[in-house]
Amino acid sequence: MDVLNYDILIIGSGLAGLRAALEVLGIGKERLRVAIISKVQLMRSHSVCAEGGTAAVMHPEEGDSLELHAWDTVKGSDFLADQDAVMRFVNLMPEEVLFLEHWGIPWSRRTDGRIDQRSFGGHSFNRAVYAADKTGFFEMQTLYDTLLKYRTFDRFDEWFVTKFFLLDNEFKGVAAFDIKTGEFRAFTAKAAIIATGGAGRIYGFTTFSHTVTGDGISMAYREGVPIKDIEFMQFHPTGLIPSGILITEGARGEGGYLLNNKGERFMEGYSPTWKEVAPRDVVSRSMMIEIEEGRGFKGPNGLDYLHLDVRHLGADMINERLPLIREVSIKFAGVDPITEPIPVRPVQHYTMGGIHTDINGKTPVNGLWAAGEAASVSIHGANRLGANSTAECLAFGRVAGAEAVRYCLEGPPKGKGVPKELLEIEKRRISNLLEKDGRENLYWIRRELRETMDHLVGVFRDEDALRAASQKIRGLKRRYQDIRITDKGKAYNTDLVRALELENMLDVAEVVALGALARTESRGAHARRDYKKRDDENWLKHTLAYWTPEGPRFEYFPVNVTIWEPVERKY
Ligand SMILES: Cc1cc2nc3c(=O)[nH]c(=O)nc-3n(C[C@H](O)[C@H](O)[C@H](O)COP(=O)(O)OP(=O)(O)OC[C@H]3O[C@@H](n4cnc5c(N)ncnc54)[C@H](O)[C@@H]3O)c2cc1C
Repeated sequence: MDVLNYDILIIGSGLAGLRAALEVLGIGKERLRVAIISKVQLMRSHSVCAEGGTAAVMHPEEGDSLELHAWDTVKGSDFLADQDAVMRFVNLMPEEVLFLEHWGIPWSRRTDGRIDQRSFGGHSFNRAVYAADKTGFFEMQTLYDTLLKYRTFDRFDEWFVTKFFLLDNEFKGVAAFDIKTGEFRAFTAKAAIIATGGAGRIYGFTTFSHTVTGDGISMAYREGVPIKDIEFMQFHPTGLIPSGILITEGARGEGGYLLNNKGERFMEGYSPTWKEVAPRDVVSRSMMIEIEEGRGFKGPNGLDYLHLDVRHLGADMINERLPLIREVSIKFAGVDPITEPIPVRPVQHYTMGGIHTDINGKTPVNGLWAAGEAASVSIHGANRLGANSTAECLAFGRVAGAEAVRYCLEGPPKGKGVPKELLEIEKRRISNLLEKDGRENLYWIRRELRETMDHLVGVFRDEDALRAASQKIRGLKRRYQDIRITDKGKAYNTDLVRALELENMLDVAEVVALGALARTESRGAHARRDYKKRDDENWLKHTLAYWTPEGPRFEYFPVNVTIWEPVERKY
């Protein structure tokens, strides 16, 4: 098998991967050989879908401050975020926004020309910089443009990474195949940054692209790297019926209301001060209660819903600031928000946990970093605030990039590449998978997995449901052993890709369900009906899940509380 040698591999070309790449190329100059590997074409990463904004303190003269951004984030996280990491994050962000500005992003502006900011859930100041409601698209475009100034990197678009090689606690390389041709190769490097995104697609009703299947998280986990806090899954209040496409929080940030079937603005009862712009966990729970108590509208396939009303904002405002949500509502729900309310309900939206890293984005393995949604640095804790994720990708993409360069340039000479026999074993594993001709249809297994997660590991959880979910997932994992891959070809074998993704999703889903079962408290997005209260005495701690053949083994370690002692979270 051909082996390609690099200094640094960046796995994933979303916001985190591209920001890391710019840092690596900027500091590394021409001294390092860099490769960016992505299973989709660069600009098809889910990051282009980010809509509403990116959080940063840009106008301290008007009363915002880094401390306030940090406090909002820590309170939003239900005190599970590491406070030192949060402080670092908020400190880095204003500069990141200006970098993008200098690289040419068309931020939306105030009439005086300064960068505008809009309101977002749980932020006590208008803190989300934005580019209409296509913020992620413009951020990605800007990073990509800037990346093209550098010539010293190789791109492997539509290459699927199947395995990380970690030996003696050191990163050695990865195995990957070209989806276009089926060609299989090994990549060796001194360091890698995993920027493979979250695992939203383990759910059926989700805002995430079909490619967001937790691959990096799962592959790291199987090699012994722990997953942190992944029982915390975010549900965004406003997923469009019936597809789950996101209607940005910016719609409520700009003044949109949520209404039940009686026409009541029910958030006034649940969160008198913050109403619709309370944090996502609070709004999603309130909406589910309204629906469960019969104050929703009947929807298709059990997807009962509520109304998001933006009509009072007026056509001009909607066309200028929310053009995408108007287009999406018209095309995918047949509803024009200028004249009708939008049908919405809570939808899976974010993977709070991820690969365990320290405050520098470094995993416990030497030479291996993780950034963006794949990572858990831990700034989101039990509930992420809106606009803090694109921001995290920028801030910690940069940090991880800089650290990886330092490691490559300053450290001692790094050990040898991947032993040949390990490469052969991996190659054989993939060709055996390709040959599989079992009785199980992998797409049915995938559908059952998603139904299980939607129904049993949703906004509200309890022991019976979580136990049933984990048993179901175990069963699906057994059935996975007997799948059939119908397409035996080499070019664009999407059957093979889906099979590999399904394996990854099953592993991650199992950790989510069992982690949630183990955590006998309610905190942030993890709302247990049988343990309704937050329990700081026993559970103010991070979960680490380690892979074993029998399923995850959990360990716990303390949260870094450097500034604010946990208090009751009120909105
Ligand atoms: C609809 C929507 C709207 C959002 N709006 C906002 C917002 O307004 N503000 C905000 O802060 N956040 C928002 N978010 C969240 C935010 O966009 C994401 O968390 C963030 O963009 C994730 O970026 P990432 O770089 O970590 O991963 P991604 O953008 O998901 O990229 C992952 C990359 O990894 C690659 N990859 C994965 N697996 C493999 C593999 N096996 N082999 C090779 N490559 C692989 C993929 O090809 C891709 O390039 C939104 C999310 C969605 C879905």
